[in-house]
Amino acid sequence: MNKMCLTFKSRIENEAFARTSAIAFLMPLNPSVDEVMEIKTIVAEAVTNAIIHGYEGSREGIVKLEIGYEVNSLVTIIVTDKGCGINDIDQCLQPLYTSKSELERSGMGMTIMDTFSDSFDVISTPKEGTTVVIQK
Ligand code: ATP
Ligand code: MG
Repeated sequence: MNKMCLTFKSRIENEAFARTSAIAFLMPLNPSVDEVMEIKTIVAEAVTNAIIHGYEGSREGIVKLEIGYEVNSLVTIIVTDKGCGINDIDQCLQPLYTSKSELERSGMGMTIMDTFSDSFDVISTPKEGTTVVIQK
């Protein structure tokens, strides 16, 4: 299996870096235009969540992006933060649920990641952090 791991600070300007790096790493698989768009969206949503929710806007947290693939198999994308964690994961997975309505979030990130992936799992411990594991 080919693998990559990136760690970067929880700064919103790093979201574009993460999504572009993910696509660059996956180029040997010759992804379709739709696959590129969906993978970029998945990485953008997961990394944005880590930054704005996990680290609650602090610019000093560390976000980790890991990607692995094997030819003719699913791609695995893992995004981890050591931020505040999630108390009620089921609630957070509901379409339109957001804890940050004052920031004009739409509450659709989790639903979009789920829709674009073959499997989508959220592992989280309050006060310790959150990991999302996506297979596509
Ligand atoms: P949108 O993604 O549409 O801008 P949103 O981020 O609020 O809005 P989701 O991405 O679906 O919506 O996330 C739903 C909720 O899950 C968030 O409002 C937040 O409370 C919680 N959440 C998601 N990711 C994390 C995370 N990494 N750490 C802590 N809480 C999270
Ligand atoms: Mg979101």
